[in-house]
Amino acid sequence: MLLKKGFKFRLDPTQGQWELCAQFAGASRFLYNRGLEQRKAIYEAEGRSMTYFAQNNELVSLKRQEATSWLQLIHSQVLQQALKNLDTAFQNFFQNVKSGKKPGFPRFKCKGLRDSFRYPQGVKVDGTSVYLPKIGWVRFRKSREIEGAIKQTTICREGDHWYVAFSTEQEVPTPAFAPINEDKAVGIDVGIKHFATMASGSAHIPTYVSNPRFFTKHLPRLRVLARRLSKKVKFGKNWLKAKKQLSKLYARIKRCREDFAHKLSTEIVKNHDIICVEGLDIANLLEKSARPLSRAIADASWRSFLRCLQYKAKERGKHFVETGRFFPSTQICSACGANQKIGLEEREYRCPSCAMSMDRDLNSAIVEKAAGMSVLKACGATP
Ligand SMILES: [Zn+2]
Repeated sequence: MLLKKGFKFRLDPTQGQWELCAQFAGASRFLYNRGLEQRKAIYEAEGRSMTYFAQNNELVSLKRQEATSWLQLIHSQVLQQALKNLDTAFQNFFQNVKSGKKPGFPRFKCKGLRDSFRYPQGVKVDGTSVYLPKIGWVRFRKSREIEGAIKQTTICREGDHWYVAFSTEQEVPTPAFAPINEDKAVGIDVGIKHFATMASGSAHIPTYVSNPRFFTKHLPRLRVLARRLSKKVKFGKNWLKAKKQLSKLYARIKRCREDFAHKLSTEIVKNHDIICVEGLDIANLLEKSARPLSRAIADASWRSFLRCLQYKAKERGKHFVETGRFFPSTQICSACGANQKIGLEEREYRCPSCAMSMDRDLNSAIVEKAAGMSVLKACGATP
């Protein structure tokens, strides 16, 4: 099977390289925004889109014009990639329109926020240095080995630092699937009260994973910064300053979150063969009552965690089942299967049919494990 992975490291550029990175990101943003403006005008006038090829052909003449001749200094594939990214954004937009989803029209990129650029090829790695065409060899903090062949390289800025992200591909033998045995199964329910509630094995051994500290540690500051930003004039100098502070804090939270997701998911996949979760799609429907900022962080954290679980399970030939597609686990009694509506504020599941009473999240985890097991058995996986 083809294994796709992502590796991200912090760059240690020299002052000159730092400036080149900013220049490359600036050029990508310039082309992206310019292309978006063109496409928007045509879309509004004629309801159709401009093609990537038409915009790409224009690049040559842009480089010849005096006002935009500085584009010559930028690696040409980086420029083309910016137009490709715009094309992808438009394709997603039209796809959403077609499928009846609420489409988000591609947005303009703002200077200093999510600055990035991408190389489709030509990047080399030697030890702790990475060769970026037209920028040179840049040192990076290699915290782990890069596995597979590098397909794409994205350079992005988070706060005051530049990062390099490689996406790699590697052909590996497909692992034999683990046997279906409930003793090696775990049901996982995610929530706000506990980050995750797990029921392991046929004895439903409970494990409660507390919320990671960054949930509460960074929230007050996040609220202050968000409030400050909301009071500034949009795109003004002070707004940009506040926005930068906010994105710096978000970047820090993101790093904590990814670290947490990696550690927890590795531990779970190591100890279980069958992992049953409610699912990426519906985890965010839970706990509507929580405050928006903490919800947003929790939501993103569950997603990182579930994504990690999913690919790590796949890599090791373990089963990953999203049960939420089949039924709402919060409503079902894990003892007798009776179904009842249960309010969000209700912490206990009390079954009217069999009088079973249990922590609601643990009940859900058990139901998810049972549902996952029956899906796997029905799919004809070897018992
Ligand atoms: Zn019951």
